[in-house]
Amino acid sequence: MLTTIEKIIFILLALVSAGFFFHGVKTIVDSIRKGRPAPELKNVPASLLKAGIAVLFQQTIFKARKWISAIHLGLFFGLLTYAFVNLVDVLEGFVPGFELVYGGKNLAFPFLGAPIINAFNLIADLMSGALLFSITFMLARRFFVKDKALTYRDNVLLNPKVISGQARDSLIVDIFVIMHVGARLLGQAYRLDSGADPFMPIASFLNGIFGVSETGIHAAWWISIGWVMFIVPYITRSKHTHFSVAPINLGLAKQNPRGQLDTPAKVDPGAKFIHDLSWKRVLDSYACVQCNRCQDVCPANFAEGGRPLSPSALEVNKRYLLKEATFGSHPDRLLVPLTESVISPEAVWSCTTCYACVRVCPVGNEPMADIVDIRRRMLIDGYEIDSGMQNALQSLATNGNWMSKGKRLRGKWAKEMEFPVKNATEEPVEHLWFVGDTASFDERVIPNTKMVARLFNQGGLDFGIMYQNESNSGNDVRRVGEEGLFEQLVEQNMAAFGKAQFKQIVTTDPHSFNTLKNEYPQFGGTFEVKHYTVTLLKLFEEGKLTVKNKLTHYKVTFHDPCYLGRYNGGFTAPRKLLELLGVEFVEMPRNCENSFCCGAGGGQIWMGKVAPGERPAENRIKEALSTFEKSVGRIGNPTYQQKQLFIVTCPKDMIMYSDAVKTTGNEGKIEVRDLIQLIAEAVGLEAPTMPLEAEAVPSAA
Ligand code: SF4
Ligand code: SF4
Repeated sequence: MLTTIEKIIFILLALVSAGFFFHGVKTIVDSIRKGRPAPELKNVPASLLKAGIAVLFQQTIFKARKWISAIHLGLFFGLLTYAFVNLVDVLEGFVPGFELVYGGKNLAFPFLGAPIINAFNLIADLMSGALLFSITFMLARRFFVKDKALTYRDNVLLNPKVISGQARDSLIVDIFVIMHVGARLLGQAYRLDSGADPFMPIASFLNGIFGVSETGIHAAWWISIGWVMFIVPYITRSKHTHFSVAPINLGLAKQNPRGQLDTPAKVDPGAKFIHDLSWKRVLDSYACVQCNRCQDVCPANFAEGGRPLSPSALEVNKRYLLKEATFGSHPDRLLVPLTESVISPEAVWSCTTCYACVRVCPVGNEPMADIVDIRRRMLIDGYEIDSGMQNALQSLATNGNWMSKGKRLRGKWAKEMEFPVKNATEEPVEHLWFVGDTASFDERVIPNTKMVARLFNQGGLDFGIMYQNESNSGNDVRRVGEEGLFEQLVEQNMAAFGKAQFKQIVTTDPHSFNTLKNEYPQFGGTFEVKHYTVTLLKLFEEGKLTVKNKLTHYKVTFHDPCYLGRYNGGFTAPRKLLELLGVEFVEMPRNCENSFCCGAGGGQIWMGKVAPGERPAENRIKEALSTFEKSVGRIGNPTYQQKQLFIVTCPKDMIMYSDAVKTTGNEGKIEVRDLIQLIAEAVGLEAPTMPLEAEAVPSAA
């Protein structure tokens, strides 16, 4: 029980603390409100409720780093419990007779019986232990073990204050928790004048060491509760704003499909300065836990000395920029271009738009969307882009494809077929096959394209293609930031679709699949779109295709392409097909949602300049080989040598991984094949061979 003078001092302190806290909150809210309008949010209360439940059970952090997440769970529940414990402590300090110790004695409120008090004491005591353990672990991880996952590569643009700022924030909060919880435990120990309490095991242990002390009770109360008055305003100025902002941010997170980018603003599209970003993505920086989970999964970050992109550094730099401009004395920082303050131009052009960072983020941040917005503005401002990309974009504008091929050549492969391939713009078809650039023009992939046509034909599918009327779908053009060219391509394709009569679109290329399915509806094109794996699986299930030769002589692993898998959840059909074919299937550690990008997306395949260090595709091939190695003896017959295959379902993957097998010197150990080749072999069609040397391999990082 506090003395009168103590109560007055506490109330004054609480008022000052609340003043600083509300000033901090107002500064943050004002800053967020300066952002541009975000896409309209629907059912906000329901979304916030869902996010609240996800946060309560800490569901989103378990997408990665399971062990660290379990420790964080202890920390989270400990702090949550302590919010209530602190309230009780304040009541004990202020309300005469309100004491919940002594096994239920001295009650101001008789309805709180001994069982309730004992349960409260037991939970508070155990949670104190859990909190002290968790926080000590976190402290050791950052300051003694120096976990590399919490650092950034030297070539990543980082605000000079980040390293010391993060260390200071962590140290202050860690020390606060240790003092806050430790002092409370000690305060409880000092009260146990009748000895050990079985419902307070840790406090009882401390009582055995420190004994009973009235002065100790007061000192412990002030250390425990008084500290809160300092930490509350500090939180609004530190990285720990995520305590309160993260649940809100998660509740307001992207609602449109993963594969749909926000349309840029009509006036001054793209983002040059921080408040050119939508308010929601300004909010992202306050929600950021600065955990680097997004950096862990970024294919542009994994190689030492490689690309200088870190999605977490982007969010953290945004946060520091805003802090300097709003809480500090540098409002002019808001007028420093993002490419000088939060992400380097080279990093901007390193993103493969794989979506892994957004998927893994526990608080619903979208660093990738910021990058696309920054690209949009860089292009408008005349930034000199990579020459390979420049050529691709020019060809897309004039030819409708990125491969500098004449439009009329698009359907050349179809005219070489032994059966007629319908022109869907001239006669009605059930399935309009959107073939895509790589599958239409690349000599290394055309044999597979022909095999798809043969399988469709054999399965009795009524299909046609649009020949020269098809243009590139624009998926990667949009992700490069060329919104105008994207809209031009959409317009061309929409005009072609307008000429055709069809029920469903089927695509060979996951990138086309994504934009046709998710983005064409923004332009009035609402179609049923399927990837060819789904269409072929249906033909098997309907008995229109049958497996004649089981492929037991193959041991295979499967790579989920980002735009089929992570973006659109197309995980099942390829795996079901592999099962039907009878191959021995081993899953790589990074699979499905957690698949690793091949490095070709977001325009990377067009780039002429190759980044130093290991490429994502090379890393993936090594992962596949190590998976095969570990599977020997676990499954299958170790003495029987099966051919090891790396199976893809994206024409770009075929190019990227065939190249990676060569550059990693693994020819002969593993072979890259499109799933279509296996299906062709299983149903008795001759498997096409790949003329791998037919054309120079485009470089991509
Ligand atoms: S989208 Fe992929 S490549 Fe781009 S920043 Fe995120 S993780 Fe990295
Ligand atoms: S953006 Fe998300 S995943 Fe990345 S550091 Fe911040 S909270 Fe972690």
